Amino acid sequence: MATTCDLLLTNAHVLTIDEQFTSFPSGAVAIDNERILDVGDIAAKYTARESIDCRGRIVMPGLVNAHTHAPMTLLRGLADDLRLDVWLLGYMMPVEREFVRPEFVALGTKLACAEMIRSGTTCFADMYYFEDSVAEGAAEAGVRALCGQTVLKFPSPDAASYEDSLALARRFIERWKGHPLVVPAPAPHAPYTCTVEILRACAEMAAEFDVPLHTHLAETTFEVEQSRQEHGMPVIPWVKKNRLFDARVLAAHCVHIDDGEIRALEAAGAGVAHNPTSNLKLGSGIAPAARMLELGVAVGIGTDGCASNNDLDMFEEMRLAALLAKGISGNPTAIPAKQALAMSTRLGARAMHLGDITGSIERGKRADLVVLQLDQAHSWPPFERDPDAVYSRIVYSAKATDVVDVMCDGRWLMRDRELLTLDENELQRAAADVARRIDRFLIQREQSVLQKLIAIGGATEQESFEVQVKARVPSADAVQRALASDDITVIRGVHYHQYDTYFFFDDAEQGRLRYREDEFLDDAGKVVNARARLTLTGPSREAAFGSVLLFRSRFLAPAAHTPRFYREYFRPTLEREVEKDRRRWLVAYRGVQFYVHLDRLLNRASDAYFVEVKSRTWSRRDAQDKAAIIADLLERLGANPNETIEADYVDL
Ligand SMILES: [Zn+2]
Repeated sequence: MATTCDLLLTNAHVLTIDEQFTSFPSGAVAIDNERILDVGDIAAKYTARESIDCRGRIVMPGLVNAHTHAPMTLLRGLADDLRLDVWLLGYMMPVEREFVRPEFVALGTKLACAEMIRSGTTCFADMYYFEDSVAEGAAEAGVRALCGQTVLKFPSPDAASYEDSLALARRFIERWKGHPLVVPAPAPHAPYTCTVEILRACAEMAAEFDVPLHTHLAETTFEVEQSRQEHGMPVIPWVKKNRLFDARVLAAHCVHIDDGEIRALEAAGAGVAHNPTSNLKLGSGIAPAARMLELGVAVGIGTDGCASNNDLDMFEEMRLAALLAKGISGNPTAIPAKQALAMSTRLGARAMHLGDITGSIERGKRADLVVLQLDQAHSWPPFERDPDAVYSRIVYSAKATDVVDVMCDGRWLMRDRELLTLDENELQRAAADVARRIDRFLIQREQSVLQKLIAIGGATEQESFEVQVKARVPSADAVQRALASDDITVIRGVHYHQYDTYFFFDDAEQGRLRYREDEFLDDAGKVVNARARLTLTGPSREAAFGSVLLFRSRFLAPAAHTPRFYREYFRPTLEREVEKDRRRWLVAYRGVQFYVHLDRLLNRASDAYFVEVKSRTWSRRDAQDKAAIIADLLERLGANPNETIEADYVDL
């Protein structure tokens, strides 16, 4: 007697993508509730409430996107072809700080789900802020998701501190644990954006709730080098030492790892998400995916967020994974089509630690599947001699648009290319509105160097005023002798080697930006310490008292990045470098404290000495009083008051 089931897909070319890659050229899949009841040549055994004839079509598991940041669809194409730090710190993070709210996340997730369903993805691993809204969006769209609530050591759009961030992750997991579609997880962003305490707390939390842990590991050489310098070892041993692998880890990227680290990942049962497009686009490199597979690691494929891809198309991603493995090894047998498809389905699910419920068409697993129709010119004709030919059709020539039907958890999300759970037009309209708002925000910011500086968290000290004068002196000795005299008291002195890079902008009103590296020298002239600072100086002097000038230094900040970062971020129209030897003294003269600088320019033809006298000031009256003493002191130091120069040395 026939067994009853909800749905029977018949006459399909069924690719189960189970361990043996069992396939049925004219098979059936029986589905009951949310589960796969049976698969194979089984149509006769079942009476179905609904039966669909899939003649000429392929039925295979839904694709698994093993790493993404779904809401970033709303940042797709916002800022491209930039270096990672400029892209992330200069654009992504400031825009995220300004715009990322629960509604933004919900909208971005639903737009992502629309795209994912259209391209045959039924399951994705996410990591973002306000992950509740990602989970709600995925659940509403009907897509399965491993949702990672981001934990960072610095303030993020949804948490003011890392303690808040951890508390949020805990509440998130408590809320979603046991949901039919959503698996919650803590997502410590990466070792370099977390502390050891955060990594440990997240691993403990994951173990406590028995959920996976989603993170980024060894994405760039910079990250690995930094880990070596700070911890004396590369990334994987470092996180292992800090017990991250106490949790079931899904690690995105793993681009820069060696065999030993791959073995450590395998031994820890960690899954890896290979993100070929993102790694290429950001110039991070190419992960050793074939080697990881060879050594037994569950390697899935991810698109990463839309800002670094720029789409969520798993067909493109698996093709690229298959091609790259061949290109970098010179071996065309590396990652064959069949294996690429397994990475995009069963292995991806295993990497996400969801291998027992999805990723293949097997009895008892959830009914997460797609129907493909490969009847278009781009994938024609079909061959039947080689049973594996179907895999190469799917991986090397099929397109996302060949997906006709999509089912997740036994529910149709798309039939005949029509989305059933989302209103695509409405989502696109709302996303265009957000894009206009982000455009306006960035256009405004780009008009001001100061705003750009604030956007990267670069302004810590506000406007300050100083009176100063700078003049040529005949020799260093004259200055040294004057400082040794009785009426000038030297409070302390220091010796530097200074490298200044000045950035100038078309609009002089913006002022100029100075990146300064100070190397502190000891008595023997050896470098004992170094620091870098950034100063935004006003466009011109505020006032003049004879040869003494009043300047406004608008913002001063520690320079956390390289000059290259600032150059690419601020895009100055002109750049000038000044290298000098500077002796700096704090002196008291006529009851007032001043800084005296004795400078010798090093990258100029002239080897003249200059002396600069300056003091902070807070009122015009104070400035005027000090200006008189400065003029006097300047003469005492042997400088000719008629040979002063304005501001810095760039024009000499
Ligand atoms: Zn990522």
